[in-house]
Order: sequence, then C-alpha cells, then structure tokens
Amino acid sequence: MESRDYLFKVLVIGNGHVGKTSLVHRYVNDKFSKHYKITVGVDFALKVLAWSDTETVRLQLWDIAGQERFTSMTRIYYKEASGCIIMFDVTDSSSFRSVRSWKEDLDSKAMLPGGAPLPCILLANKCDLVPWQIPMETIEQFSKANGFIGWMETSVKENKNIDESLNFLVQKMLMLA
Ligand code: GDP
Ligand code: MG
Repeated sequence: MESRDYLFKVLVIGNGHVGKTSLVHRYVNDKFSKHYKITVGVDFALKVLAWSDTETVRLQLWDIAGQERFTSMTRIYYKEASGCIIMFDVTDSSSFRSVRSWKEDLDSKAMLPGGAPLPCILLANKCDLVPWQIPMETIEQFSKANGFIGWMETSVKENKNIDESLNFLVQKMLMLA
C-alpha cells in the first residue's frame, strides 16, 4: 500500500502566561516544568505521529511569545499554516477576552489554499485550577459563535486532554488536506 506523509504547520497563539510553551513542551517532549524562560519571537517544535499504517503526520508547532496581551501578528507568521490552537487560561478572564482578537487576526490573515478559514481549536487551559473565571456555557457558546472546530478543557500540568485535543485538530486538518 502506498504511504502518505503530511506536514502541517500549526500555530499556537493566545496571551502570555496561558500555557502555550508548556503545551508544546508537554506534547513534544512529554514533560512539564514550572519554569520556562519567556520566549521572545517564535519557537518551533516538531512532532512526528504514526497516524495509521500508511500515514505519517509531521506537526510543526509554532509557539509565539513576547506579548502579554493581544497584538496582531505579521502575515509571514501565518503563512502556509494548516491549523491553529488558541489558548486561554480559565483563571484569567482577560486571556479569554483576547481570544476573539486572536481569532479575528487569524481569520483576516490566514486561510487554506481554497480560501476557507483554518481549522482552529480553542483550549481552556489550567483546568486543574479553581475557581474558573469563565463558565463552561459561555465558552461553549463563544466557541460555536466564533467558528472554532470545538473547544476542550486542558491541563498541561496534569496532562489532561493534550493528545486528545491535538488528535482532534489533526483529524480536521487531514480531512481538509
Ligand atoms: P505561555 O506564556 O503561554 O507560553 O505560558 P507558559 O507555558 O510559559 O506557562 C505559564 C505558567 O503557567 C507556567 O508557570 C506554567 O508552569 C503554568 N502552567 C501552564 N499550564 C498549566 C496548567 O495546565 N495548569 C497549571 N496549574 N499551570 C500551568
Ligand atoms: Mg511561552
């Protein structure tokens, strides 16, 4: 049988301190650490998935850094991306309020070759912490109203829903590839 190789560029965006670098580190190296240097600019990490007997998926994760709040990104950053993760911190309502701006910036600058918006998943991170500042119903409605493929609560710290959320995104990207 013929084997297929896919390379997907995946953007990881969201306010500072929500857990983006931790997510990439956890997903790629299976590690969590409390202390990361604040990345300035962009970091890349590669994860190779044996998706099926005949399909290999290479994920190139682009982890942005340097901004505590929303700032619009240059088009170059979004170029040729296949998918996106927008992350916020459930204990930080300002990080949730910024999600809309991140999504609008994404949709205004990035699209698939056919012109469709990029598949984008919304991650409600630090779900191990209480209290949540944003009710689940609010997140659910927001996710639907703003064109996300879906949302999941995650804890990078406790390794909850990390593989699941990335797999969900990969499935969508494969359908659109
Ligand atoms: P970034 O600025 O978005 O890249 O965020 P970092 O990955 O640097 O994480 C910011 C802080 O949040 C760090 O101290 C992490 O250890 C912590 N953190 C990340 N994910 C979680 C999580 O799921 N739960 C908890 N409790 N802390 C987390
Ligand atoms: Mg970071």
